Amino acid sequence: MICLAGLYFSFMAAGAAILADTMPAWAQDDAWGWMLGTPQPTAKDPGLPGGTSFSNGSFYWSLDGFIGPVSFVCMMPVEGPARMSSCFGDTEGRDGHAHTGIDWATNHEEGRWVWTPFGGKVTSAGWNYYLGWTVVIENDEWQVILGHLCCGASGKSHTATGPTSIAVATGDLVIAGDVVGKSGTTGNSTGPHLHFEIRQCDQDGNCNVMNPNVVRLPGQDGLCAWESFGD
Ligand SMILES: [Zn+2]
Repeated sequence: MICLAGLYFSFMAAGAAILADTMPAWAQDDAWGWMLGTPQPTAKDPGLPGGTSFSNGSFYWSLDGFIGPVSFVCMMPVEGPARMSSCFGDTEGRDGHAHTGIDWATNHEEGRWVWTPFGGKVTSAGWNYYLGWTVVIENDEWQVILGHLCCGASGKSHTATGPTSIAVATGDLVIAGDVVGKSGTTGNSTGPHLHFEIRQCDQDGNCNVMNPNVVRLPGQDGLCAWESFGD
């Protein structure tokens, strides 16, 4: 697959949306509606539990504020063989909304090792309505989101559809390359794959989805051509 690149995606980044696992069910339903085109609140809502906020119409995991040792590996974050099945910004087959990350399809198999590309603190490790079993790691205002992990059935669900393979817990400190769980097809997924997403948050805690190919994550010296990984 060939990915388009450039400014086009930076415009879409602020409008991308993923549902936070700390949200109540009604908020998750609202978030899904937004993804399908229904207007949603655009300001932070301090009334939501767990510090969850809305920003620019985007739903996200709240910033923890962790800043710690940096480490980085520029490699596909899931054990191969795998092929990149969806670029950042893809709209094909997505009801017109842009893909908020990069997907690698794991050859119809589940249970591949998944690791973090950068070191930091695990700020969320649990079930998500849209991404199924999901791990979020943060360092210095950057978040990486690793979704659709094993195990369980595909399909949006407010409750887990199977046992988790997640190998880390909220609050754990990890370094680049540490295994966080195994790949699967939980949540809104049409087949076994890893969803890899990068978000950058500002000092006010507003987070935007970023194109992984054009950012420098904690510990990253040069650009990493994520779209080039896979068979
Ligand atoms: Zn994805």
